[in-house]
Amino acid sequence: MRTLTLITIAIGALFFASCGNSNKPTNDTTPDHKNNPYYSRTDTTHLHVSNTDWKRILPADVYDIARAKGTESAYSGKYWKSDTKGMYYCAVCGNPLFRSDAKFASSCGWPSFFESIKPNSVRYESDDTHGMSRTEVLCGRCDSHLGHIFDDGPPPTYKRFCMNSAVLEFEPDAKQ
Ligand code: FE
Repeated sequence: MRTLTLITIAIGALFFASCGNSNKPTNDTTPDHKNNPYYSRTDTTHLHVSNTDWKRILPADVYDIARAKGTESAYSGKYWKSDTKGMYYCAVCGNPLFRSDAKFASSCGWPSFFESIKPNSVRYESDDTHGMSRTEVLCGRCDSHLGHIFDDGPPPTYKRFCMNSAVLEFEPDAKQ
């Protein structure tokens, strides 16, 4: 009987040890998206998901900007002054949006880029709200609001994609 108990304890310990052994590399800072069935960094299929569903899936701060077209306060986001090399993805759907090579130091207080990874990584809509005439930038895959684009950026495009950190997800380049 005592042997059986010891064997049971040993099997249980092995089971829990294997559960804690994640397949993720230890330097992988990618957030867990297991509750988001639409998230993919490779699938380019255009998404048609209701805001009711997004509200159930997304963290509140992401939803408020991505789906309710909010804006985070200047100098408050996690990426506005970051200059680490890597890739910026849509925090809602995983669509690759910007390379750090296209990011520039802007005094505006929001992460700023002079170009998207591909022209169709994003799409544009006129935005005449808040008494201004601006061009809204949306994710090309999930149509989430990302920010606005202005004509006061640096060369070579002279564009400034003024983005909200909360709807971006940064993945640093792997160490060489
Ligand atoms: Fe997206």
